[in-house]
Amino acid sequence: MILIKSYRYRILTILALVLFTGVGFSFNSDKCKDEVRPVREYKTKYVVVLIIDGPRYSETFGDSTCQYIPNLSTVLAPQGVLIKNFKNNGTTTTNSGHTAICTGNYQSVKNDGSELPKFPSMFQYFLNEKNLDSTHAWVITSKGKLNILANTKNSKWNGKNTPSQYCGVDGKGEGYTNDAYTWRDAQSILKKYHPEMTLINLLEVDVRGHQNEWPEYLQAIKTTDNTALNLWNFIQNDPVYKDNTTLIITNDHGRHTVGHKNGFVNHGDNCDGCRTIYMIGLGPDFKKNFVIDGMYDQLDISATIAEMLHFKMPTSKGIVMDELFVTP
Ligand SMILES: [Zn+2]
Ligand SMILES: [Zn+2]
Repeated sequence: MILIKSYRYRILTILALVLFTGVGFSFNSDKCKDEVRPVREYKTKYVVVLIIDGPRYSETFGDSTCQYIPNLSTVLAPQGVLIKNFKNNGTTTTNSGHTAICTGNYQSVKNDGSELPKFPSMFQYFLNEKNLDSTHAWVITSKGKLNILANTKNSKWNGKNTPSQYCGVDGKGEGYTNDAYTWRDAQSILKKYHPEMTLINLLEVDVRGHQNEWPEYLQAIKTTDNTALNLWNFIQNDPVYKDNTTLIITNDHGRHTVGHKNGFVNHGDNCDGCRTIYMIGLGPDFKKNFVIDGMYDQLDISATIAEMLHFKMPTSKGIVMDELFVTP
């Protein structure tokens, strides 16, 4: 009923705009190729995407007490939108999950950093369309191998409009660094350049899981929960970013369901534990205290960012998550 209503409303709105105002239209992603949408102004001028690497949903929002994520559950989610049962519907490994988020396409990318994404990313499309240099978009990751997110193997786009990167040890695209250093360096970069688009990856949850260290894995979920709050406070205390920045917090993948294979130690298959993650969105254009169960997946993040920052991602398969936006 609601769907029918909103569809009818959308058609009527579009017809009215076409007939009476001549307002311009932009085409949406592939999933909705035939749908035209009116151009809408957003308050968001900057976007930060925080990817907490590989917590299992049963230790985050799948736990009704949310005991390991007090800040995400009681401080941040109420200030924005929370998508429970958000999904990685592609390959549930680190580089593939991050690639899906950045390009709007599921692709099995080699997980050792030796393979670039097939499609250009939101960073490249954004810098190109806005004619901005590389300091306006940053990839800042604890894992060096995630420097693949800054480029594509697509021959037309390879090496073009690439974002700046600070990945791994000393930002050199090698090894794994400590999340505390990543958070420190991310703050310096944000303060110095105020990029319009930034991705930050924190690795400790995933690493502790692979090391089969249950208490440390849980502690890492708490530590990253704290960093997420610190990041939001940093944004809201920064004179440039305050009130015009959207923060998206999500995961690249989950981990095996309890009782499946070696459980929290690993991930990478199709089990529900590996697929199920969450997404939190905070910012001036998102509703407050709005919770959705399911519906969306990783491909929809860059599509929604592209809508807010007004650039096109013709190769994206994602859809814009319109229902997250406040009513204009
Ligand atoms: Zn990962
Ligand atoms: Zn699994």
